[in-house]
Amino acid sequence: MTATGSSAVDEPFGDDQLKVAVDAFEAATSVTVLCHVQPDADTIGSGLALGLALERRGIAVQVSFAEPDRLPASMRDLPGTDLLVPADEVARAVDLIVTVDCGSTGRLGSLADRLDGADTVLVIDHHRSNTRFGTVNVIDVKAESTTAVLARIFDLWDTEIDRDIAHCLYAGLVTDTGSFRWVRPGTHVLAERLLATGIDGGAIARTLLDNHPFGWLPMLSTVLGSAQLVADAHGGDGLVYAVVRRADVEGLGSEEIESIIDIVRTATEAEVAAVFKETEASTRHEWAVSLRSKNAVDVSTVATGLGGGGHRFAAGYTASGPIEDLVASLCAALG
Ligand code: AMP
Ligand code: MN
Ligand code: MN
Repeated sequence: MTATGSSAVDEPFGDDQLKVAVDAFEAATSVTVLCHVQPDADTIGSGLALGLALERRGIAVQVSFAEPDRLPASMRDLPGTDLLVPADEVARAVDLIVTVDCGSTGRLGSLADRLDGADTVLVIDHHRSNTRFGTVNVIDVKAESTTAVLARIFDLWDTEIDRDIAHCLYAGLVTDTGSFRWVRPGTHVLAERLLATGIDGGAIARTLLDNHPFGWLPMLSTVLGSAQLVADAHGGDGLVYAVVRRADVEGLGSEEIESIIDIVRTATEAEVAAVFKETEASTRHEWAVSLRSKNAVDVSTVATGLGGGGHRFAAGYTASGPIEDLVASLCAALG
């Protein structure tokens, strides 16, 4: 089947492009919603909001992600978590698979093999680097979050955004906008609409973003204490980076590790920030890398060139090798 519904970067995203998602939902009697590996609140908020909407219409739905095997603690009180099933229990054949907030099949991890067992694969996303791997693609690269794309789809589908669905949508909106730092006209209108359902925006943000065990503080001291500034990177715009080894984060959760980039990226002297996170035992030297940029650099392009993907101002990739080699490759990619 020919892929439909994707938008070029600079085209406005219209209802006709969203309508293909509604058509796919209306044609399905069994649906699997897949979130990305190492899930964040945008992919889980999207997955659960869509799961709740489908369930209310009497459509059989499973929601899942490949790894890790448990939902990060900060997301466990989102509405709809009863729809989550372990990866090995995800159906092998369904009418429709919907992927949410996934830029490529690689982000599905071990669940990528389920795509072949679906009549239709609907990709709902906002990543600039999206590879458009669905039979139907609804990718609004200007959207603040995948949950913001879903809010528009729900309106078109005549699906009420009630308090539970609003909670899930707000979770993705507040986290992917960096607590409303990266916004555009309309962002606050959507936030206001979700808040008007009676959700507690302050509590949702605190639970997802401002809630760390005490051990987070000494970990930050160690990791930030070893941060480095490469002043001449990207023609003098500067790169700041920090390295997070397994031993530094022993006993801490993904929320603690993912928060580090938000501190490192504040360094005035650097346009680009990177955090190298060791994912395997040190002998294997495997790293997940987070990239952020303030303005001048499109880190989505940089990360895609290094085998990953993302957005203009937030992207990532994985790599292996000694840390000095990774820093050198990143500096070379930045130019
Ligand atoms: P993170 O630094 O993990 O918060 O990721 C920032 C952005 O880059 C997110 O939108 C991710 O979806 C994307 N991203 C991170 N890691 C990868 C990867 N290995 N492959 C593709 N996209 C990635
Ligand atoms: Mn995400
Ligand atoms: Mn997102």
